[in-house]
Amino acid sequence: MQLTGTLIRRVHWPLMERLKQNRTRQYLHELREAQQLSPQALRKRQADKLRRLLDHAVRRVPAYSEYASDWEAADDDPIRFLERLPVLSKARFRASFDQFLSNDADPSRLIANRTGGSTGEPTRFYLSRPAVERYEAARWLGLSWHGIRIGDPSVMVWGSPLELNQQQARRYRLKERWLKNRLMIPAYDLDERRLDEHLQLIRRFRPVYLYGYASALHLLAEMMLARGASPGVKLKAVVSTAETLHDYQRQAIAKAFQAPVVNEYGARDGGIIAYQCPVGRMHAFSENCVLEVVDPASGRPLPPGERGTLLVTDLHNTVMPRLRYQLGDVIALSSDTCTCGISYPLLAAIDGREDDMFVTAHGTYVHGHYFNHIMRNLDSFRTFQIIQHRPDQVTLKLVKEPDRYDPADEARLLEAVRDKLGEVSIEVCHVDRIPPSASGKTRYAIRECPLTGLLRE
Ligand SMILES: [Zn+2]
Repeated sequence: MQLTGTLIRRVHWPLMERLKQNRTRQYLHELREAQQLSPQALRKRQADKLRRLLDHAVRRVPAYSEYASDWEAADDDPIRFLERLPVLSKARFRASFDQFLSNDADPSRLIANRTGGSTGEPTRFYLSRPAVERYEAARWLGLSWHGIRIGDPSVMVWGSPLELNQQQARRYRLKERWLKNRLMIPAYDLDERRLDEHLQLIRRFRPVYLYGYASALHLLAEMMLARGASPGVKLKAVVSTAETLHDYQRQAIAKAFQAPVVNEYGARDGGIIAYQCPVGRMHAFSENCVLEVVDPASGRPLPPGERGTLLVTDLHNTVMPRLRYQLGDVIALSSDTCTCGISYPLLAAIDGREDDMFVTAHGTYVHGHYFNHIMRNLDSFRTFQIIQHRPDQVTLKLVKEPDRYDPADEARLLEAVRDKLGEVSIEVCHVDRIPPSASGKTRYAIRECPLTGLLRE
């Protein structure tokens, strides 16, 4: 694995740069230089990039052409101008998808992508190669904060691409193994009976780090802890991504793998947004994007420390710019400076998806975490899923812990649900397992009715 890593660094990457003009390492270098700058210098660079993006968007992108004269007349900070533009919800973006394509984009160079759709309708979008390479560079910079280099061996706990035929799947595995130095443990069929097989794979391959969904890493960790199994290799980090990483998950993962747990914050349709530093804080890559947090009801910008709806503006995706894109997450910015020496701005909190918020009949919000917290204190259940069909109607799926099930716990649970959501009708189903969605993610709290008042069309 060491040799593969060296070959990837010394041969594969230089070749990709020469033959395919891949610029990931150049962008990585730029990001690394920028992390030493003063916060003021970073803000200026971000404003300059945004100015170039706005210049391009109003001239080349039909969805933004109506702002051309305003933008030309505006003489203020581009960040202030951005704040006056409307929020771009996923629904609005999907409805006028074609209008967001830049009229100078070369169709043969567009990189098509889409969200998984595990939390609603899939959203299609196009990326430019530089945008994708800048996300990659951000990930490598974040990993480098933990001593991980390009080409270091890793094991991914991940949902394999399901749509591949046999030959494509084989090619995918070879590419993963020899060009990325990665092996895969499938996240969607993690099974206690295969734990030894998974651990053997880790011990033989000797990865420097693991990378996977928070819920899948947590499940693997719980299986190991239940059996008293150790990873058998020294890991620099276990990197959790794609889902909110809860504290109890972080603790179990750290204990089982005897390694620091590092949170990566990104989204298929938002890129790599922030990374945890060695001190444990989340730094946002202000070189790649502008982040705003607004009040979900009024759309008013919120000050650092206050939680609200995240809006992301990618600074490099000129083929299909999305300005103030409502990613669907609830976060808080921070004005603190980190002691780690990295200047990238901090996030104060990442609460997870707006989709995980529940709404009461009175129109107040309850975060899905609340149900998680209650369940953590009840020994009767192994896992659960709560689905809100309407503000006054929920289904609670419960997987019992066979030897420890106590009906009094169930009564306490129903009481706690009613305590937050009010007088709701609760249908309780006892099930054997909660199947993850096709992407491999398991969702504990699902709301099917709209959150009234939020910025949705
Ligand atoms: Zn830091």
